[in-house]
Amino acid sequence: MTVSILKNYIAGEFVSGCREFRNINPVTGEIVNLVCEADQELVSQAVVAAKQALKGPWGKFSVQQRAALLHKVADGIEARFDEFVAAEMADTGKSLQQASSIDIPRGAANFRVFADMVKTASSNCFHSDTEDGKGALNYSLPRPLGVVAVIAPWNLPLLLLTWKLAPALAAGNCIVAKPSEETPSTATLLAEVMHEAGVPAGVFNLVHGYGPNSAGEFLTSHPQIDAITFTGESRTGSAIMRAAAEHVKPLSFELGGKNAAVIFADADLDDAVAGTARSVFTNGGQVCLCTERVYVQREIFETFVDKLKAKAEQLKIGWPKESDTDMGPLISAEHKNKVLSYYRLAREEGATFITGGGVPEFGDQRDQGAWVEPTIITGLPETSRCIKEEIFGPICHITPFDTEEEAISLANDSRYGLAAAIWTRDISRGHRVAKAMDAGMVWVNTWYLRDLRTPFGGVKMSGIGREGGQHSLNFYAEPSNICIKL
Ligand code: NAD
Repeated sequence: MTVSILKNYIAGEFVSGCREFRNINPVTGEIVNLVCEADQELVSQAVVAAKQALKGPWGKFSVQQRAALLHKVADGIEARFDEFVAAEMADTGKSLQQASSIDIPRGAANFRVFADMVKTASSNCFHSDTEDGKGALNYSLPRPLGVVAVIAPWNLPLLLLTWKLAPALAAGNCIVAKPSEETPSTATLLAEVMHEAGVPAGVFNLVHGYGPNSAGEFLTSHPQIDAITFTGESRTGSAIMRAAAEHVKPLSFELGGKNAAVIFADADLDDAVAGTARSVFTNGGQVCLCTERVYVQREIFETFVDKLKAKAEQLKIGWPKESDTDMGPLISAEHKNKVLSYYRLAREEGATFITGGGVPEFGDQRDQGAWVEPTIITGLPETSRCIKEEIFGPICHITPFDTEEEAISLANDSRYGLAAAIWTRDISRGHRVAKAMDAGMVWVNTWYLRDLRTPFGGVKMSGIGREGGQHSLNFYAEPSNICIKL
């Protein structure tokens, strides 16, 4: 079998001839493809190409032309839908159901949403008659930032990459993007789609590689990058912030989480159990919005734990292509080792395992893959590392609470603040507790229900800035004020 080689895409051309690394399928541990790792020279070429493209025809594109091109890119993804789905499944092991209903459709939708939004974006205008600035007309014009470095993670590869690319292009920037080393395939297909759609050379560039001392670091520390948008671990965010400090770059950060779900005794129990199971185990717990800490009012604690256990044990762990598969493997052997190290730590810290805690056995090639069992634990003190640190796997800890105040204080006792879910039938309590959450996004009686226009992002170690709708466009285009003396 010949293994294909994924190339970098620079100045409108696919470029090879570099050191290669292996992209592994986490279902079986087999090679998906080989990937050309961009060295410092190639990254630099990509940045220079993007800089030059700003001065070319792209810089003169009208908003209508940019929007039309983005719709063409969305058409191109949809035309090659099955290829994108297969590539995302091979890189991540996620189920056909998830890749075909969430990842790839959202990848295309991101281009359409921002193409439409940028066409109707308005700017401020002041016909100044106040004491300061009297007798002038002020108006602001959105200006692209220039060359934006886009660094994406592996958990929702195409979806999160395009969530940044689409608004950045809609706003008129040029891009150098680096997908995760774990998931290079759909980004490479996207480069082909951009090429076929007629995106001018240099407007979109793709470099492959790792983070430290590889394409990621070369890109974020490049002096000619004008801004950085990053989704990934908080620790990586700190490293990128240090790299960006020297040249004072604008940053947009979507980082890690240790999200809480709070279940009150008055909640619709079956809804709360089903919603919490979804929020813990979706994508093997590898969504930044996933719940890892569950707080349940004491009256219903035992019943809730029993019901969540039953749900976890009903999950079908299986081949991604089978239509009834609920959960696939983790992204890699390395990540499996990390998650299993937390399962071990939980035992050392004295947790009670309600279910899971091990590795499923299949008796076929999947035993070489990156699988772990869905896991529920209880009984740990709130200070334990398993409750404090992001694990990013299919595991949650459940703690009982007595009062609303106690629930708020427990949920907020984290250095992260990305998302929270509250389950209650008391609408006033829902509003009250939602307002008290130290989190960028709060769901009441649901989870992961998203309107793409709403602000998306976290507080504390979970991020800087907001994405979504106008919030994204505000980051990728800063207003210049023009003052005309009347
Ligand atoms: P990661 O931080 O390890 O890697 C993310 C990207 O950064 C990859 O492309 C990687 O190559 C690159 N990178 C790593 N070190 C770098 C460096 N020093 N300089 C430049 N680039 C570097 O994250 P991951 O493991 O791919 O993703 C999982 C993490 O992402 C979790 O913490 C999760 O919570 C977070 N996440 C957050 C959101 C959100 O919206 N807040 C969404 C998805 C994932």
